[in-house]
Amino acid sequence: MTKVCVVGKEELKTGYPIKEDIVIKTIRAIKKKLKIATGNELMVCEKHLEEAKKKRKDFEGSIIKLVALVSVIAVIAVILAVLNGTFSLLPATFALLILLGFLMIVLSLFKYYPAVDTEGKGETARRKAHKPKPARRKR
Ligand SMILES: [Zn+2]
Repeated sequence: MTKVCVVGKEELKTGYPIKEDIVIKTIRAIKKKLKIATGNELMVCEKHLEEAKKKRKDFEGSIIKLVALVSVIAVIAVILAVLNGTFSLLPATFALLILLGFLMIVLSLFKYYPAVDTEGKGETARRKAHKPKPARRKR
C-alpha cells in the first residue's frame, strides 16, 4: 500500500496516521463498490502537520456554525408558527428543516477534513515499553 500525504498528495515513507472515522470508512466503502479505490494509505507528513491540523479546525468550526444556523432557523420557524397560530404550517416547517439538515450533511461532507492521529506514534512506543509480568514466586 502506498502512503500518501493528504495535504501535499506526495508519497511518504512515514507520517502521522489519519483517524479512521465514520466518514473515511464510508468514503472507502463507496469507492470500493465503484471500483475506484486507489488503495492508498492516507497519512500526514511532518512538514504538512500544522496545515492539516488547521484545516481540521476550520472544518470543525464550519460544522458548529452550520448546526447553530439550522438550530436558529428551527427556533424562529417554530416561534413564527406559534405567534401566527398557524400550526397547519408546522409539517411544512419540519420538511424544510429536514431539507436544511440534509443540506448541512452534504456541505459538511464537501468540506470534510480528517483528523490527524498524532498520538498514534506514541502509542506504539508505549506498547513496546510494556513491562513483562513479574515471575511467580516459588514456595
Ligand atoms: Zn505532506
